[in-house]
Amino acid sequence: MVINMKKVVKFGGSSLASAEQFEKVGNIIHADEGRRYVVPSAPGKRFDKDTKVTDMLYACYAQAEKDHNFMAEMTAIEKRYQEIIDGLGLDLDLTGEFDRIIDNFKRKAGSDYAASRGEYLNGIIMANYLGYEFIDPAEAIRFNEAGVFDAELTNILLSKRLEGVERAVIPGFYGAMGDGRVKTFSRGGSDITGSIIAKAVQADVYENWTDVSGFLIADPRIIKDPQGIEMLTYAELRELSYMGATVLHEDAIFPVRKAGIPVNIKNTNAPEDEGTWIVGHTIQKSKYVITGIAGKKGFASVTIEKDMMNSEVGFGRKVLQVFEEYGISFEHIPSGIDTLSVMVHQSEFENKEQNILSGINKAVNPDSIDIQSDLALIAVVGRGMRAQRGTAGRIFSALAHANVNVRMIDQGSSELNIIIGVENEDFEVAIKAIYDIFVETRL
Ligand code: ASP
Repeated sequence: MVINMKKVVKFGGSSLASAEQFEKVGNIIHADEGRRYVVPSAPGKRFDKDTKVTDMLYACYAQAEKDHNFMAEMTAIEKRYQEIIDGLGLDLDLTGEFDRIIDNFKRKAGSDYAASRGEYLNGIIMANYLGYEFIDPAEAIRFNEAGVFDAELTNILLSKRLEGVERAVIPGFYGAMGDGRVKTFSRGGSDITGSIIAKAVQADVYENWTDVSGFLIADPRIIKDPQGIEMLTYAELRELSYMGATVLHEDAIFPVRKAGIPVNIKNTNAPEDEGTWIVGHTIQKSKYVITGIAGKKGFASVTIEKDMMNSEVGFGRKVLQVFEEYGISFEHIPSGIDTLSVMVHQSEFENKEQNILSGINKAVNPDSIDIQSDLALIAVVGRGMRAQRGTAGRIFSALAHANVNVRMIDQGSSELNIIIGVENEDFEVAIKAIYDIFVETRL
């Protein structure tokens, strides 16, 4: 083992849901000297129908906000933590902490503050259990007045705060604004905290421990026992997580990517598994031509036709401006000689459709506009595709054999992905067909 390795280890909610899980985590940390900075989530589900502490806190605070009595909810939360403390046999009393939290709930400290207490309290327990220093991220993870994460300032504050700190527990999911008000990332945001800390301490590795052994080539709800992905690049991950692969929060990649720190997704319940490595560059080829498949349902397309569109300067801009005016971002804009389609999220488009259609009519006076709903997008991602001939051909013949009608095709300029639009109802069949051709039959 390399001496003085610096690893940041983040543990997800299910890895910390009970005393038993905490013990597994303790063993993992003690097994490697390099695991020096620990980022815990709030306790997650202990079993399928269980409730995450974060959700309990949101519900509890909703009562407080309405001036309803919230003590029953708060006591249930307290019990979750007490069970962990007792199970680990710790000499730790959280009564004072809970008194303060109750006061702050009464004072309506905000739902971000409320939710953040899940990680905060778990961090206190973890620090006590490991004998590590506890550092409150509200001290050093900064959001600006608009509530947007300030990466630069955070990196300065955090590197300074962690200077000379050999080992520490830093709760995930939140930071604070300049005035001290607590602000959280979006759900699942402890992944982002881990990445920010890895960058601040210039870690050798960011280990992200969860309850699966890394990324799978395809969604296991669609493909039975899909194969795992051993290694993928940040760019591939970005494509896959944007399109719905959920193992890691999609924003978690940015800090480590900038710093070139590899991420290793590991399984707390099977620590010997190698998991998935996410790296900047690699000469290692992936096992198959494709690295992964991901996708999402619920898109709509607006197709605009106008003769001589291509020679009309500013046509695309005028169309996109209409979407911009109504606050809708577009996903893809496949175009033909006299047609342009704009693909958008159906849920964002639905209640503004008539405004947008009349806006487009006014802006570019098209010959016709056609709208389609209930479309799904599938991303076939792979760094190996660029060097291989016939990948697209294979995808489309597999889809044709499966009787799937392809509604849209878009190959990203990086040649890292091919995006295919199909009808929502063909989504699963299409993914199966693509998985089959590349992984099962390896044609
Ligand atoms: N506890 C938070 C959530 O449930 C953040 C996290 O687990 O990463 O979303």
